[in-house]
Amino acid sequence: MIKISQLHKSYGSNQVLKGVDLEVDLSQVVVVIGPSGSGKSTLLRCCNGLELAQEGTIDICGQRLIEHGVILPEKELNRLRTQVGMVFQSFNLFPHLTVLENVAVGPRTLRGMNAAQAEALSMGLLAKVGLSEKAQAMPASLSGGQKQRVAIARALAMEPKVMLFDEPTSALDPELVGEVLSVMKLLAKEGMTMMVVTHEMGFAKEMADMVVVMDGGRIIEADVPEVIFKRPKEERTRAFLQAVL
Ligand code: ATP
Ligand code: MG
Repeated sequence: MIKISQLHKSYGSNQVLKGVDLEVDLSQVVVVIGPSGSGKSTLLRCCNGLELAQEGTIDICGQRLIEHGVILPEKELNRLRTQVGMVFQSFNLFPHLTVLENVAVGPRTLRGMNAAQAEALSMGLLAKVGLSEKAQAMPASLSGGQKQRVAIARALAMEPKVMLFDEPTSALDPELVGEVLSVMKLLAKEGMTMMVVTHEMGFAKEMADMVVVMDGGRIIEADVPEVIFKRPKEERTRAFLQAVL
């Protein structure tokens, strides 16, 4: 579903990704962990063309997104992006639209649905994330956990084939983290292909098919959770886990 080969990315002279290879298969959940500045967000952002990698290739949803620093033409890129949902730490909801409109705007403008179709789809997704009763609310009246669940529903409204999550619970008060993780677990159990950057090691242990450890722009170790958490091969993995657990 995603195949990243020898990806290199620099900002000026700052080499941020130094030859990353990673595959995420259909219905797999891959959790990416590692210290601040190791390149986790950059890697994720490269996967939907928000960042341009100078070298290497990314194949995603059956298309070559980038090769030798050349990205898909805009029209195809936009089409591909509808298949790659992304959820960020900051929820980025449209503040002037209701919850329902936030979810329905994508299907209406990008998938050509009429208002009734988009609304029916969106109400179904709001039910799924446990927010049916908030359909007419404005984002400002929601808690962080509720906002993030709307953001997930909005991403799902495009019916993506892959979901990318960049620290979706990092901005939340601790008591609101669980409700967002529950929605992510539900998606994983339904077979969604997911790449998740998170510091929630419980989620990684429970849900990840593979945990990828990044440090200094490289994947230093990738394995099933049991190995990464119980007997990592790399000293740097051990040190990182000791710091966060
Ligand atoms: P964190 O855990 O803090 O979110 P991260 O692993 O997601 O860290 P990135 O955000 O990918 O790390 O950043 C990797 C490196 O790239 C850092 O050195 C950062 O300063 C640099 N960087 C990220 N985005 C930009 C940008 N837009 N312009 C210049 N440098 C950037
Ligand atoms: Mg980051």
